[in-house]
Amino acid sequence: MFSYQHPVRIHFGQGVFSELEDMLRPYNFSSYVIVMSASQIDNGLDRLVKSQLGDDVKDVVTNITPNPTLEDVRRIARVMEANEADCLIAIGGGSVMDAAKAAAAVYLESIDIDRLLERTDFQVSLPVVAIPTTSGSGSEVTPVSVISDEANSLKVPLTGEGLYPKAAIVDPELTLTCPAAVTAVSGIDVICHALDCLGSAAHNPISDALAVSAAKLAFENLERAYHEPMNNGVRENMAAASLMAGLAVSQTGTSGSHALSYYMTSHYGVPHGEACALTAGDWYIINSGANPKLDAHAEMIGFSDARDLNRHLDELKLATGLAVTFEDLGIGHSGIEEIIERGFAAADMKNNIAQPEQAEVFRFLSQK
Ligand SMILES: [Zn+2]
Repeated sequence: MFSYQHPVRIHFGQGVFSELEDMLRPYNFSSYVIVMSASQIDNGLDRLVKSQLGDDVKDVVTNITPNPTLEDVRRIARVMEANEADCLIAIGGGSVMDAAKAAAAVYLESIDIDRLLERTDFQVSLPVVAIPTTSGSGSEVTPVSVISDEANSLKVPLTGEGLYPKAAIVDPELTLTCPAAVTAVSGIDVICHALDCLGSAAHNPISDALAVSAAKLAFENLERAYHEPMNNGVRENMAAASLMAGLAVSQTGTSGSHALSYYMTSHYGVPHGEACALTAGDWYIINSGANPKLDAHAEMIGFSDARDLNRHLDELKLATGLAVTFEDLGIGHSGIEEIIERGFAAADMKNNIAQPEQAEVFRFLSQK
């Protein structure tokens, strides 16, 4: 038995961003706060938004930290309070969208930000319109916002129906300016979402179909997107892959690779996608031991089985400048042990189909 629900209205296609005003009209919002990465201001997107929405744009918040912090959330919430905006538009990568989603919940529920990471189930928030400028996080269609508490070296995924954006506007043209390194770390995250979803205990036929299609598209297009940034077709395929992986993971949550990534990012500063990708193929193999269907899914993605998929994932990481081993990241045996111990405390870990012992995972990963 499974149930399926998805509340985000999606507008997808080349050039849809230039129709922002038309797309927002049915919602009857009267004032907006925009959260936007500094690079998109350099690209002139703030002017494009203001040319369409005029004086309804009350303020623009920028310079969100790559792994958004409680302070970022506080900053956005304050600007919203000052302007009493009724919609938040997030234009950027996963960090910008995650920070905006958390701030929209904080604002509507007057949540004490110092206690934000203790909250477990977010039910309501101010409407967020999410406009991704990278292909990777899928945050535009997920009920998740990952926020960091720098002081305590914590990175925590907040979840709950209230964190779904109201609408997602996915225009692949916005990703043409995405630098190669960002294309790589965000694009590889698409594959991690798809594999974590297939390896999730909560998977169902719909999430499986979305995840297989997303992984196939990403495997076929990521290296080209890395080398040919201005290739519209390849960028569109990556945007579709990211969206589908986001839709898949919105139903199941992430599993092993994400559980192990949080401490790698908060303690070692490894970018999110690269940290997840380091073990995503290994988790796929581990989970295939508990559900042989994962080998069949690997075949549908284009490989002979789970192990073959993992080999090709390593090749893709090499080809896009990403780490393949812990050693590549300067992480030794004691570091791996700590990463696994911390990972076992994350909720995502319980979401694997296989439930290996900590020591087993250490043996498996320390051979990398
Ligand atoms: Zn991710």
